[in-house]
Amino acid sequence: NATLASADPEIASQIQNEVARQHEGLEMIASENFVSRAVLEAAGTVFTNKYAEGYPGKRYYGGCEFADVVENLARDRAKQLFGAEHANVQPHSGSQANAAAFMTLLSPGDTILGLDLAHGGHLTHGHKLNFSGKLYRVVGYQVRKDTETIDYDELEATAERERPKVIIGGGSAYPRIFDFARMRAIADKVGAHLVVDMAHFAGLVAAGVHPSPVPHAHIVTTTTHKTLRGPRGGLILCRQEFAAGVDRSVFPGQQGGPLVHIVAAKAVAFREALQPEFAAYAQQIVANAKVLAEAIAGEGYRIVSGGTDTHLMLIDVFQKGILGSEAEHALGEAGITVNKNAIPYDTNPPVKPSGIRIGTPALTTRGMKEPEMRIIAGWIAEALEHRNDAAHLAKIRGQVVELAEKFPLYAWLR
Ligand code: PLP
Repeated sequence: NATLASADPEIASQIQNEVARQHEGLEMIASENFVSRAVLEAAGTVFTNKYAEGYPGKRYYGGCEFADVVENLARDRAKQLFGAEHANVQPHSGSQANAAAFMTLLSPGDTILGLDLAHGGHLTHGHKLNFSGKLYRVVGYQVRKDTETIDYDELEATAERERPKVIIGGGSAYPRIFDFARMRAIADKVGAHLVVDMAHFAGLVAAGVHPSPVPHAHIVTTTTHKTLRGPRGGLILCRQEFAAGVDRSVFPGQQGGPLVHIVAAKAVAFREALQPEFAAYAQQIVANAKVLAEAIAGEGYRIVSGGTDTHLMLIDVFQKGILGSEAEHALGEAGITVNKNAIPYDTNPPVKPSGIRIGTPALTTRGMKEPEMRIIAGWIAEALEHRNDAAHLAKIRGQVVELAEKFPLYAWLR
């Protein structure tokens, strides 16, 4: 019964370091968030010990009576949250949710049409090194060069020419709303199914501050850990007609036993997302992103596509002669965590791209609002300007820590 601190001080100390890092810095990676104490507690439970292959009432192991209750609650809450006919809460990750969705609708060698990674798509939407690029024939669609928003006419022409079996909506670095109705019309026209991967904006959909893909897509996939603010994991929603296929594709198609402790934590997060406070939270994420984008633009930076409709934005730092990798490093030194990111039609390589991606979900969870966004935009500009001045970056970091102190995180863990 030794505590972690006494049983494994090496790991325990890194966990303490991470608690402090998350508290002291400004987390602006668009795909990250901070789960509640309740979600964290559920994730760290004895359900980690339990095998529950199969589904509630149809398990391949005994002793699943409590796991069944947990999974049924998670499924029901997910269905209620998104107005879906069926939910599978077992995918271990967003990538596995996508793998299962594709397995439901496709055979190896079939054609998929997804947003190019270089234009904001995700690895699992057809990157050549990913399972999606290895199993399927991949065709990409792009954003327009002038507007940096999706060119639906080009998407339609490509779909008519290439006859994909699946068209994929959603992405990791696209700051605008996808036109789900138009994408479904294109899919119908060419006899394809529409899969929407709402991983990034699922929390906004749950709160009703972003259009929902659920009425349009045949299958919707998501991660549960981004704007949705649940534990790290995946979720699939679909109509009843695809329910059996999706369930079979997750288990036994992609996975063995579900992570029941994580399913429990997902259930807790879905319950939280059903509360009115979550809608207010999601509204604030978007309001914060708009103010942040305006303020960064006010510092003379070009925002890809001219702004954002969501929780994330892409900043073209190369227009000011700065590489995304340099910007990521300098901001990191100043206590602001972001990631370098390619921008559409990038002339620089992915490891040294022209942009950075910034998001507001995590800071909004801490309670930060428009005034903090304006202050942070100023620090971002200052850090980028003084990117080669370690003392200046350290000075900004001091101010960052002071601001972070005013919005405490995980106080009971520190
Ligand atoms: N889909 C999208 C759009 C994502 O942005 C991500 C993660 O960044 C994923 C899927 C994959 O999720 P995971 O990292 O859980 O495999």
